[in-house]
Amino acid sequence: MRKSDKTDLPARLSAILGPLGYLSAPDDCARYVRGARYGEGQTLAVLRPDSHEQLQQVVAWCAAHGQALVLQGANTGLVAASTPDASGRYLVLSLERLRRHIVVDPVNRSVEVDAGVTLQDLNAALEPHGLFFPIDLGANPSIGGMIAANTGGARLIKYGDVRQNLLGLRAVLMEPAGAVLDLMTALRKNNTGPDLKQILVGSSGAYGVITRAVLQVHCIPRQSATALVVPRDQAAVLQLLQVLERDCGEFLSAFEGISGAALQAVLQHIPAIANPFAAEGLPDYCVLLELDSSAARERSGLDLEQLLTRTLEDLFGEVIDNAVLGRGQDLWRIRHAISEALRHQGKLIAFDISMPRSALVEFRSEALTLMAARYPWLRVMDFGHWADGGCHFNLVWPHSAEPPYQAGLAEEIRTALYDLVVLRHRGSFSAEHGIGPYNLAYYQRYTAPSSRRLAGRLQNLLDPQRLLGLTWFGEA
Ligand SMILES: Cc1cc2nc3c(=O)[nH]c(=O)nc-3n(C[C@H](O)[C@H](O)[C@H](O)COP(=O)(O)OP(=O)(O)OC[C@H]3O[C@@H](n4cnc5c(N)ncnc54)[C@H](O)[C@@H]3O)c2cc1C
Repeated sequence: MRKSDKTDLPARLSAILGPLGYLSAPDDCARYVRGARYGEGQTLAVLRPDSHEQLQQVVAWCAAHGQALVLQGANTGLVAASTPDASGRYLVLSLERLRRHIVVDPVNRSVEVDAGVTLQDLNAALEPHGLFFPIDLGANPSIGGMIAANTGGARLIKYGDVRQNLLGLRAVLMEPAGAVLDLMTALRKNNTGPDLKQILVGSSGAYGVITRAVLQVHCIPRQSATALVVPRDQAAVLQLLQVLERDCGEFLSAFEGISGAALQAVLQHIPAIANPFAAEGLPDYCVLLELDSSAARERSGLDLEQLLTRTLEDLFGEVIDNAVLGRGQDLWRIRHAISEALRHQGKLIAFDISMPRSALVEFRSEALTLMAARYPWLRVMDFGHWADGGCHFNLVWPHSAEPPYQAGLAEEIRTALYDLVVLRHRGSFSAEHGIGPYNLAYYQRYTAPSSRRLAGRLQNLLDPQRLLGLTWFGEA
């Protein structure tokens, strides 16, 4: 058969995958072509292998016949890289049925896991061993998708991102067609050449199909202490962070900035959440902070609530003005409700940026000034993982605003803010969510030509026909 001849594609692929593995009815395909928070594309079929052999055969067939694929895990990605575009050129290769294998090694504190296993299922399997995979976010992604997106999350400051917890992986390549790249080690130390698995981390499904991984896991915390703190002013946010890192060191597990506007949106739209600062009104800015430890209070003598209370007491009047302690779950509910609450306020222009922590205060002040001067109808409702330099400088364009929402103007605003982040503060326009169609133009704008050339050469080597994914890392 010639490369372009795909007339027997349905027959051949459904023969490999069986009726549950080959979906082509539009209703069956609908949820695979729609993004978590964006529009939808088209596909002829969704391929759902349930074994490594099936997956390898499918990839080999597609490579041999020039068939483009978009890889999909749990489809919670936010940059349009996990769903097909409108061209109908892509089949969706879903890893969701590749989820049988979860083998825990409690002594090595690691787990070997199929790429389609979800984070929740992984943590359920780890829990009886007193272990967990600590990447913490408001979605339930797959392990393969987390590696391809290098997921961060709210506790990155203590546990790192996926990259820092990845010990090994296995992938199936487009070139040679269907070949297995086996990098499945459970080693923490292994200096026997370049660390090739890292090429697949953050690759947005463009370099190969990750089928299995070995992850480092952690002991479940046996105690934690949480507080919502009001810093005196913006500079005090970073002072607070420094004091906590000095005095509470390795116990600091989260440090999340929340603007007063974001907090107000939560209280307005989620009636079940009460204002934690009821008596004092709403602060301009607050920080949700958390300490955690696997050392039990009774045995170790370590009492994190006491440690946090004492640390904050010393800061009253100078660094902080107010603090609500305890009630960890209630306080985290506020943080997790922000994204949803902002959507009720108008059209959201969301940002996922990062920069050196030392630049955050200056950036925020400059960004607020820029918005007020040039786009005064926008409402800034920012929040973010300040301890790792992350910031969701989210903007809401109210439905009643003048001018009404215009996509072109929104792009201008986005570029103005990214210029400030990347060109002035040497930050990143995509701190956590990766590169996909939504970010490709910015990738071309801000990534150095030498990096793009190398990334493109690598992609050509691994996928010379450019069949895998919607992200081209080379020069435009
Ligand atoms: C409510 C919500 C909250 C979120 N919070 C965070 C957060 O705090 N931090 C954060 O970093 N992200 C966050 N995200 C984004 C998203 O959850 C992560 O990017 C996640 O890791 C994607 O995993 P997934 O399995 O859903 O992958 P998908 O969305 O299915 O795919 C993501 C990318 O990985 C590729 N891919 C998927 N599987 C494979 C595979 N097996 N091999 C190779 N490539 C593959 C896809 O082609 C695509 O490019 C959030 C999303 C939502 C909806």
